[in-house]
Amino acid sequence: MSHAADAAPTPSPDARRARRILIVGGVAGGASCAARLRRLDESVEIVIFDRGPYVAFANCGLPYYVGDVIADEQTLLVASPELFRNRFNIGVHTNTDVIGIDRAARTIAVRDLRTGDTRTERYDALVLSPGAAPIRPLLPGVDRPGIFAVRNIPDSRRIRSWIADHRASRAVVVGGGFIGLEMVENLIHRGLAVTVVEKLPQLMPPLDPEVAVPLTEHLIAKGVQLHLGDGLARIDEAADGGLIVVTESGARVPADLVILAIGVKPEAELAKAAGLQIGSRGGIVVDDQMRTSDAHVWAVGDVVEVADVVTGQDTVLPLAGPANRQGRVAAESIAGRATQFRGIQATAVVGVLGLTVASTGASEKGLRRAGVTNFEKVYLHPGHHAGYYPGARPIHLKLLFSVPDGRVLGAQAIGLEGVEKRIDVIATTIQFGGTVHDLAQAELCYAPQFGAAKDPVNLAGMLAENVLNGDMPVADWLELDRTDALLVDVREPDEFAAGHVPKAINLPLSQMRERYAELPTDREIWTCCGVGQRAYFATRFLMQHGYRSRNLSGGYTTYQAFRAVGRNR
Ligand code: FAD
Repeated sequence: MSHAADAAPTPSPDARRARRILIVGGVAGGASCAARLRRLDESVEIVIFDRGPYVAFANCGLPYYVGDVIADEQTLLVASPELFRNRFNIGVHTNTDVIGIDRAARTIAVRDLRTGDTRTERYDALVLSPGAAPIRPLLPGVDRPGIFAVRNIPDSRRIRSWIADHRASRAVVVGGGFIGLEMVENLIHRGLAVTVVEKLPQLMPPLDPEVAVPLTEHLIAKGVQLHLGDGLARIDEAADGGLIVVTESGARVPADLVILAIGVKPEAELAKAAGLQIGSRGGIVVDDQMRTSDAHVWAVGDVVEVADVVTGQDTVLPLAGPANRQGRVAAESIAGRATQFRGIQATAVVGVLGLTVASTGASEKGLRRAGVTNFEKVYLHPGHHAGYYPGARPIHLKLLFSVPDGRVLGAQAIGLEGVEKRIDVIATTIQFGGTVHDLAQAELCYAPQFGAAKDPVNLAGMLAENVLNGDMPVADWLELDRTDALLVDVREPDEFAAGHVPKAINLPLSQMRERYAELPTDREIWTCCGVGQRAYFATRFLMQHGYRSRNLSGGYTTYQAFRAVGRNR
């Protein structure tokens, strides 16, 4: 006898003949699939199985529950099994692990985790949405008490209790990606001193390294200790009973708790054991209707591999938006509707201690990994609204676009205000296959406190257009060490004196018209200023006076970011 009938659906008079849809995993992908399917088809029987105690909970809210920003655990429960049953006539079996799939018999084997009882359940269509599991590295000491991953409500509850019971004051977060950074913010919010250990030499691995620099500086300014380019080696027990995180370089960081946030991997074992096709990235292979290699089985969410619309390559992307949309697509496919999931482009945002980091589409390193070479990039640092209105904050923005057609390939941005709004506009442009000309022409909200008549999105498009049509050739900061071009800093002497690229000479834009003849005509002139705007004016002037000239995109601000990551001196 099992407890599994706690939210069984009401059988319809036709129950014996009703099509039976079983869903494994009842959170982002699974729950949205179930609810959409019911809206489309009242006749089918829908049953969700989840090994955890809850369904439809807000995983994305978990770090904020740890941080006490969300104080009431109940608010994380978006929908209860009772709501599924009463509102949608959807059965929910929590604490029920799905342990096998018999594709020939079209049954699944399930185990009630409270009683240990197992049984089989018949399906006509099966949807797999088991998500992705946090990676736990096989290193000495990682199973000690006080070391946590964050995946579900019980995990967060355990972290909260540990902080309270042990009066924790020092935490180490291993991994500087999205979840790691959200945990940093929330642990600091709880009053803990936080150290981040990240194996890569940068935070936020999806970003290009130079773009992540303001994030690094921001965390340091907020008192976060960083060990970048230094992986976790082991975790020892301290003499006082606490923990000591030992890094590969030998650094020893004492801690009262450790959060492991080094990434997730698709929970594809069930599918693999059932003989479903698994892709090279370890996710379940699906078609554009989210159907697996078995016509009766669909899969959605963190567990699947899907095409990246920019690079065309298959990838796994553990984000809530795609999981929800895929759940909806699977429901429509099961209901017999013509439907299509159009792929992912990795649009994502994270806020950390007041700073917003957002990106969409491909990064430069992602393009290079994918073998794409026909692209160009621009850097800009505009204010998030009109400069004359008090409080304008810079947005550091990098835009990647293909040459010569100008298709937008990706963008990354960091700043204190207005960042995600710009990335969302660029993300939408990418979805529609838009170009930098579309960005230049985009008609966006403007009043002084919100934006500028030339919004940062317009500016990015205009700069890129200038590159494409030859009005503003750009030079790559990475070429600086190899070029024999003359580097001319066009800022005013006091700005130049305050800091400049070592081999630059100073010829201010304000003196350019009188003094340009001092410049050699037999060398290319690379212009540089604070953020790229005056250098653009100088480049235009020089080009129209017979010089070969390029603008070092993003100016001294971008140079400093490259220098900070050791990619230029
Ligand atoms: P999940 O939502 O993880 O659901 C899978 C469920 O399946 C789990 O409840 C699991 O217990 C169950 N399950 C697994 N195997 C079995 C089995 N064999 N039998 C029964 N049940 C099983 N994404 C964003 O876009 N933005 C964010 O801000 C964001 N923040 C996040 C913060 C945290 C702490 C975490 C963990 C994730 C965050 N994500 C965020 C990612 C997002 O939550 C996931 O991409 C999304 O939930 C994936 O949906 P899914 O349905 O594939 O899997």
